[in-house]
Amino acid sequence: MATRRLYYDDAFEKEFTARVVYCEVRPPDVNSGITGTVWGLILDRTAFYPSSGGQPNDLGKIGDANVLDVRDEGEEILHIVDRKPSDPDVNGCINWTRRFDHMQQHTGQHLLSAMFQERFGLPTVSFHLGAEISTIDLRGPEPTAEILEGAERAANQIVFEDRPVTVRYGTAEQLARLGVRKEVERSGILRAIEIESADLQPCGGTHVKSTGQIGMVLVRRCTKIRQDWRVEFVCGGRAAKNARSDFELLRETAEKLSCAPEEVTSAATRALAERDANFKTVRATLERLAVEAAALALRSTPSGPEELRIVSRILDGVAPEYLNLFATELVKSEKTIALLAAKEEGNLLFAQHPSAGNDMNALLKKVHERFGGKGGGTRDFARGKLSDAAQADGALALAKETVYAR
Ligand SMILES: [Zn+2]
Repeated sequence: MATRRLYYDDAFEKEFTARVVYCEVRPPDVNSGITGTVWGLILDRTAFYPSSGGQPNDLGKIGDANVLDVRDEGEEILHIVDRKPSDPDVNGCINWTRRFDHMQQHTGQHLLSAMFQERFGLPTVSFHLGAEISTIDLRGPEPTAEILEGAERAANQIVFEDRPVTVRYGTAEQLARLGVRKEVERSGILRAIEIESADLQPCGGTHVKSTGQIGMVLVRRCTKIRQDWRVEFVCGGRAAKNARSDFELLRETAEKLSCAPEEVTSAATRALAERDANFKTVRATLERLAVEAAALALRSTPSGPEELRIVSRILDGVAPEYLNLFATELVKSEKTIALLAAKEEGNLLFAQHPSAGNDMNALLKKVHERFGGKGGGTRDFARGKLSDAAQADGALALAKETVYAR
């Protein structure tokens, strides 16, 4: 027996009475997040909307049972409930906050899709109403920022005009003659939603009574999904919530930058420019420091066997970048080997002037084998990191010993 869909005639019916025509225990359905014992319920009539056409199902109560899911099973609507009703005559009550939110998003989608198509020739190929955000996929060239804003503005103009949203019935041919936005090839009598002088679209979903009830359409991001353009949008209560959280973000950011919300962009640009300038200054200072420190280290380190000069240092409180700069300066001198470690992090840097004739990569590998760590490099320049920074002393001693034992 076909379930009478009360929402087809009146999407504002929140409570209804009905008779149970079928009730059976259902197996748990982990995919739908249903783990306990549940019942499948079919009523002679229902105001509960099942998931379909991009709009999620309603929730609410049937008698004292909670409705967990509502499914469209062709002629019938199946309600998944958490207990068996004690009486075959039941009262149904849908969660109106959830439903009205869905109606705002869904009607807003009809309107927004119509604007994209009519004004910019971009047809909607799919719609998804999500828990936080809704999306439509547009086909065609990339919608520019002007197009996104233009469609939003045109949609909101029709919201302000508070035009009636009505249901029309007709065959596919009749609807086509009336200028339906998306033609369908189904037979029989179809249901279509008309927004006065703006849109006519076949749809079995639930909608508000007039465009004013959509409240507001707010277009968000647009991203490329395969061949189409996915436009995120929110309507009504969600638009207000998003505008509020956007402003909070702006306010917090302005507070961090110590400026007014209107000045966030210029303050951020300035902060980034300062950061870049500081980075350059620090880099230049480190380079100068490395040159001085290398000259000092070379003067104070006498050459050993085979005229090799080994500068071995554990450096305290330096960035790994400084090890590079320091080593590079040291090995500009012939027959010089730099064996460096950063005390806190355990970074290692072994480098040589090619005339020193060793293999820094092999040396580093040997140290890592003994003390643990990883890294690598070339014959003249190798970088690594000890697993335990406290082993830096031992690591450098082993490296030095290995060079001399060659
Ligand atoms: Zn619809």
